[in-house]
Amino acid sequence: MSLLLIAPDRDMSPWANALKDEDPNIDIEIWPEVEDKKKVHFAVSWNQPKHVLDQYPNLKAVSSLGAGADHLLEDQALPKSVDICRIVSPSLIQQMQEYVLGAVINIQRNFVHYIRQKDHGKWQAHNHPLAKNLGVGIMGLGELGQPVATQLAQVGYKVLGWSRSEKKIPNTTTFAGTGELPAFLQQTQVLVCLLPLTPETKDILDLDFFKQLKKPAWIINVARGEHLVDEDLIYALDSNILQGAWLDAFTEEPLPDKHAFWNRKNIIITPHIASITKPKEVATQIIDNYKRALSGMELNYRVDREKGY
Ligand code: NAP
Repeated sequence: MSLLLIAPDRDMSPWANALKDEDPNIDIEIWPEVEDKKKVHFAVSWNQPKHVLDQYPNLKAVSSLGAGADHLLEDQALPKSVDICRIVSPSLIQQMQEYVLGAVINIQRNFVHYIRQKDHGKWQAHNHPLAKNLGVGIMGLGELGQPVATQLAQVGYKVLGWSRSEKKIPNTTTFAGTGELPAFLQQTQVLVCLLPLTPETKDILDLDFFKQLKKPAWIINVARGEHLVDEDLIYALDSNILQGAWLDAFTEEPLPDKHAFWNRKNIIITPHIASITKPKEVATQIIDNYKRALSGMELNYRVDREKGY
């Protein structure tokens, strides 16, 4: 029996080493060098090519290499009988908290403007709102969204949160379902997208959505590029419906050279680095799920195929 690592755009040897350190008895293979496809019972996968996951007749479960599992859920080659799980870890949470807090403070305190002004020798102060008056709205109150909301509230921001089911989070005003979305947006000036990518949430960040935010408004997208309608963002920025956008995830990655986002001063771009999975930290979790899959036990952090996350 073996555990297969599939991630065509990454060096997977640190992953193989971390898993071997955790359990030296496990056979690990790195795609595409697979000795015996029948031996593969568990895979760890990220951006797998099409027509790969249907080549392992004894595959019982696949773990995403990261927090999101949308690349597995939409893979037609993955048999429905194969369980899917994902990574949830303290360092993924901590990194996301750092990233979002950093972006929110930068936006609130106009640091982006001051960095640019220095290049032009310009001395000009800009007004900034007090944290308690700045509505920061978190869409998605899951493994990442909840701790992000809690931390922003601790720093003193006026935090709002939106999810599918009702939540109670200290110092956060929560909203649930599509019916309460307008009320959430009306009080939100800095919108943080931490939703999973599902048929319901794809293209959710569109023009109609931007128009409902409290002005002057910013969006921070740290979830998936497909949540955002790119053309609508450009239009909203050009029409002063939005003041700026801080983006870490894109429909096509790396972002193509000619993409319109590159030349916009009011779009901040980071190359999908908000929160990176560290092999050593999650090796125990992966090995545990590998053993659970072999013995037919329920996986930890199992993805619900019906819900889509
Ligand atoms: P999660 O634990 O699955 O939480 C998802 C949250 O979204 C839940 O609160 C859920 O509501 C809510 N939700 C789902 N569908 C909804 C809908 N239709 N309407 C309203 N709310 C909805 O997800 P997570 O682990 O926190 O990850 C969040 C996102 O971050 C994912 O897109 C992931 O891919 C992304 N991510 C990005 C990076 C990066 O480096 N940029 C790193 C890690 C993760 P309920 O609570 O009611 O179910």
